[in-house]
Amino acid sequence: MILSLLPSAAHGGIGGGFQYLTTLIVNRRVAVDAGALGVYGTPKEQAEIRHVFLTHTHLDHVATLPIFVENIFLSDPSPVCIHGSTPVFDCLQKDIFNNRIWPDFIALSQKPESPFLRMVPHEPGQTAEVEGLKITAISLNHVVPTVGYIIDDGKSAVGYVSDTAATDEIWDRLNQCPNLKAVLIEVTFPNDHQWLADISKHLTPANFKDEVAKLKKPVPILALHVKARFNKQVVKEVLALQLPQVEFMEFNKVYEF
Ligand SMILES: [Zn+2]
Ligand SMILES: [Zn+2]
Repeated sequence: MILSLLPSAAHGGIGGGFQYLTTLIVNRRVAVDAGALGVYGTPKEQAEIRHVFLTHTHLDHVATLPIFVENIFLSDPSPVCIHGSTPVFDCLQKDIFNNRIWPDFIALSQKPESPFLRMVPHEPGQTAEVEGLKITAISLNHVVPTVGYIIDDGKSAVGYVSDTAATDEIWDRLNQCPNLKAVLIEVTFPNDHQWLADISKHLTPANFKDEVAKLKKPVPILALHVKARFNKQVVKEVLALQLPQVEFMEFNKVYEF
């Protein structure tokens, strides 16, 4: 399995090392979250993405989804599949594809001449099979309904613990996963902003330590989703934990599992 984290700052500019938006690409064909998806590469490269899985509807995870769908329209006879839970789809319909923020691509897709996208329900606990991958959604503990994913190609499995406060179910599932090769997990605010992490249901490095201690397998742990304005402090506090399994995920690096 090949995995990469898209950069989200304007190409080549100052700020290239900061993560403002979240999108992971799996095997060039599947995107997990669409924060930066619509501003990555060329329309042709974007059109290679045939499935988008959405963890939740916060803007850093869906911001450029509408741009992406527009960019790739008519590039392939079959529409791109958007996978998400009922609350995610309700929000996309009411708050994004509502003919005010952006055209209602969901309604337009009912017409044979304008198949922009296909909405594929994917509720927590369910496993979708696409592009040779089994992708299982697991509920997390965030301020809006949010899932993490276990992505399994039969040989390797990777866990993605998206936006969350303390959680247990996904760790139980990952500990039972026989071919687990890596876990990606958020760490958002520094320790002196615990109050902000608590009200927004995110992890500080102190919480991160408690979460990763729940993993009983010696696989690499890749940290991501650091708030840009706290980047230096969060990185320092995580490195001070001296956890040998942990490293920060780099943008555009090809991770092979
Ligand atoms: Zn969020
Ligand atoms: Zn987020």
